[in-house]
Amino acid sequence: MRVTISGGVHGNELTGIYLVRKLRHDTPLTHNINLDFLLANPKAIEACRRYIDKDLNRSFSTHALERDSHLYEEERAKVIANRLRGCDFLIDMHSTTANMGITLVLSTQDKRSENLAKILASEYEDVRILQWFGSEEGDFINTLVPSSVTIEVGPVCQGVLEPEIFWRTYKVLRRAIEVLDKDEWTSDPHLAYRIEGYEDFPRKNGKLWGMIHPELKGRDYGQLHPGDPIFLTLDEEEIFYHGDPCVPVFINEAAYYEKKIAFCKAKPVEI
Ligand SMILES: [Zn+2]
Repeated sequence: MRVTISGGVHGNELTGIYLVRKLRHDTPLTHNINLDFLLANPKAIEACRRYIDKDLNRSFSTHALERDSHLYEEERAKVIANRLRGCDFLIDMHSTTANMGITLVLSTQDKRSENLAKILASEYEDVRILQWFGSEEGDFINTLVPSSVTIEVGPVCQGVLEPEIFWRTYKVLRRAIEVLDKDEWTSDPHLAYRIEGYEDFPRKNGKLWGMIHPELKGRDYGQLHPGDPIFLTLDEEEIFYHGDPCVPVFINEAAYYEKKIAFCKAKPVEI
């Protein structure tokens, strides 16, 4: 089985970039899997920016992969699609400014991906599973491979290598490699969260006119009920939540301001 570990799909998420550099330099001995390492967006890594022309992790739709493009990331997506041909399992490393701990994001309902996530989540207290079946903006890198787990760790500032989170994630990643190498399986069900919607910031004439309410800040994976405060506008007006009860995640993620997402709304599910 060929396993690829990628970092730097987003060039300012240093945890994943340096985990790939560490593992390249200090590769664990494996018996049944071949490890391959990928720094996905070299120009953005060099510039320490999320991307140069567009979000690479929304550039993997068949349509984007087939058309000629002058956008750096769309050209890079084609190179990566070739590189990942024959890859059986992708572990894609990201970081988030939200208080997400170590979140294993599953973007398909594939058994091998779910199995790895369940084993890791059952062994580490700070590891959670989040299902996110795609974005309207375009396809994730995961759509190129049969099985994958995206690891999102936070809170980490963009452009910062945060030591505690780095080594916690390294430990989980080493264990992930071991699980795949030994082909360990579990039949135990596990709690996961499934993203089902998004909430945008308050706006005035299309421009941002408020922020996450102090009471919601940092409360990722908490419970959000109708009537709970979610935003505070620049007029000092509190805005309260109206939807169905949910579990908010990616609260105040820096990279999602441009996507008009203040937080994502998830529901607990058993997988
Ligand atoms: Zn990212």
